[in-house]
Order: sequence, then structure tokens, then C-alpha cells
Amino acid sequence: MNKELLKINHLAKRYHDKQGEIEAIQNITLSIKEKEFVAIVGPSGCGKSTLLSILTGLEEKSEGTITSTHSNLSFGYMLQKDSLFPWLTILDNCLIGLKVQGNLTDEKRKEVIQLLKKYGLEEFKDKYPKSLSGGMRQRVALIRTLATNPDILLLDEPFSSLDYISRLKLSDDIYQIIKEEGKTAIIVTHDIQEAIALADRVIVLTQRPATIKKEYKIHLTDKSTPFQNRKCKEFNDYYDAIWRDLNET
Ligand code: ADP
Ligand code: MG
Repeated sequence: MNKELLKINHLAKRYHDKQGEIEAIQNITLSIKEKEFVAIVGPSGCGKSTLLSILTGLEEKSEGTITSTHSNLSFGYMLQKDSLFPWLTILDNCLIGLKVQGNLTDEKRKEVIQLLKKYGLEEFKDKYPKSLSGGMRQRVALIRTLATNPDILLLDEPFSSLDYISRLKLSDDIYQIIKEEGKTAIIVTHDIQEAIALADRVIVLTQRPATIKKEYKIHLTDKSTPFQNRKCKEFNDYYDAIWRDLNET
């Protein structure tokens, strides 16, 4: 079994605004292993994005600890909207993270071009985001996230701005890229099927304040691509169980 990469212990988050205190996360304890693909599902507004924001350091935690076996564990964050810069070419968009870090070398640039090539985007490298479909833009966003070679990828509802067919296709593409690049990934979503189709493990959160309600290791006979996984015989049992978890009060 792969070794543990990240450990979250008794994490809590309270926001403070003019209306008072909002408790977003309560007592989340969770560990993630190397190369694991973990999905976190929970109702809208329960605290999923908050959890990812704390991991990347965009938000401060109120309580708890986040530790790693890795010194300087790095995160790559991919959002719901691709947030590509419209005035930059596809290649420059993919290089922006490296530039900001001051790590852009000729070698890195070549590696990124190689990634674009490998995943069928090379011919668009000098084009602008507006000439790409939503699914392609999200693939570019993933390559941009991979360019800085983060230890863990955090995906925040990466498919939710797309139509149904595109999201099925993009799930397969994103899954393939993450597996081929040997990455550890955490995806948050409110889509139960997406979670089961993609992940090795599904963590179910409660309504806000989010706590862990249940955890499922996903064992699918004939596990293959996310699209094909939806046809596995165990798929509906997981779906029903998680649906029940999410709809119990
Ligand atoms: P999810 O991603 O599961 O939809 P969020 O993590 O975005 O949920 O939000 C959880 C709760 O925290 C919501 O009630 C939201 O309104 C609140 N919240 C999120 N960000 C802030 C903030 N910066 N200040 C105050 N409240 C916030
Ligand atoms: Mg969110």
C-alpha cells in the first residue's frame, strides 16, 4: 500500500463577518495516501471549497493540524471555472505558475509543451482561450496546474460549468492525465456519480458545518475509465448508499 502523504487532524473553520460567526467545517480528520484519488462529496454550501482553500493556504484554519511526510508539500489548485487569462496564449497560460514562482527555464517550457502535445493540445498552444471549447479549456487548466509539479492536485468541481456529455468526456480525460502523471488528487463535488466513477475512496460530508459522515472505499469489478465505471455492477449500490447519506437529516 502506498504511504500516507497528507494528514488532516481535527480541522475546524469558522468565518467571521458582520452577521457574526459561520461555522463551515467541524472536526475533520482525514488522511490521503500517495497516488490516491479521493472524492469529497457534500451538499452545496457545506464547506467543501473551504476545506481546499485551507489546504492551499488561501484561508486560515481555526483549529486542527495539517501534516505531511513530505517537507514542503505543494498543492495545485484547479477551479470550477477554468480561470485562464483571455489575453494570454494557451502556452503562456500554462507557463504562468512557473513564471510567478520564478522557476521558468527552457527545460520547463519544453516539458510543458510536451504535456500539451501528449494531451492533444499542442496545435492550440499559440491560440487564445476563447478559441477552445469548455472541455479543452479545463484540460489546459489542468496542464497549467501540473506545470509546477505539485504533490497533490485539488480539483474544485472542475466539471460543473460544462454540459453533461462534455463533463463525461472531460472526466475520462482528467482521470487519464492524473493517472498517467502519477498524481495524488482530491476532487470535491456535489455529484455522487462523478465521485464514484473517478475515485478510489469517497468521503461523504454532512450539511454545514461539514463533518465526515461516511467513507467508502470504491471496489468496482472491471474498474476502468470513469465512463465505463458507471456500468459496473456495484456502481448503483454505492450511489444508493451515498444518496441516502446525503439525504438523511
Ligand atoms: P461549498 O464549497 O461546499 O459549496 P463553501 O466552502 O464555499 O461551500 O462555503 C461553506 C460556508 O461558508 C457557506 O455557508 C459560505 O457562505 C461560507 N463562506 C465561505 N467563504 C466565506 C467567507 N470568505 N466569509 C464568510 N463566509 C464564507
Ligand atoms: Mg464550492
